Amino acid sequence: MENLVIAIDGPAGAGKSTISKLIAKNLGINYIDTGAMYRAITYKCLEAGIDIADIQSVIDICQSTDVDFVDNCIYLDGTCLNDEIRSLEVSSNVSNVAKIPQVREFLLQKQREIGKRSDVILDGRDVGTHIFPDTRYKFFLNASAEERGRRRYQELIDKGQDLVLADIVEDIKKRDYIDSTREVAPLVKADDAIEVDSTSMSIQEVVKYITDMVRRIGE
Ligand code: C5P
Repeated sequence: MENLVIAIDGPAGAGKSTISKLIAKNLGINYIDTGAMYRAITYKCLEAGIDIADIQSVIDICQSTDVDFVDNCIYLDGTCLNDEIRSLEVSSNVSNVAKIPQVREFLLQKQREIGKRSDVILDGRDVGTHIFPDTRYKFFLNASAEERGRRRYQELIDKGQDLVLADIVEDIKKRDYIDSTREVAPLVKADDAIEVDSTSMSIQEVVKYITDMVRRIGE
């Protein structure tokens, strides 16, 4: 029997990871953060002092990297990364790494391989459109850019980072633009995805709504 695959796509800061982790816990399945994989590659390039505009060097680094996602942790060449992949520097470069077709192809294979290991919920931008287009469980989580910026700002402030709200909103809008206009696997709602606008919904309300829908689709 095929494993259960739940796709949660949407723009930056829509709450995808928080919500996906809670749903994974409720349903007793694994969670995979596909964005963390792009962030890990970006982090490795920045640490190596590579200019992200030097596409060939980014591709070379990517193809010689071991990326995995196990037990809620992103592994880069065997080391579990944490907040270092959430810095504003990584955030403001990641979309330019993610638009490189060879990087996407490399990570797509990985994501499919990891996603087939067990029942999973994956969050990202192209889970329902490209990684697992055949799954019946597709959701597109959205919220206004200002609300997404405010949430992301609060999350980073709570982690002790010193930031300006306007910079975060600007970063989010810039990423939305690059992510939705790139040629390969752009950020777009799959025709058969259920759209959830979380602007005025609590985390618990969104979790309950999606969990109920998953159960209904599965009946
Ligand atoms: O989800 P998160 O905001 O951490 O993702 C970081 C970036 O990774 C996104 O802005 C996007 O450029 C890229 N990404 C992607 N496809 C995915 C997941 C993330 O292009 N499936």
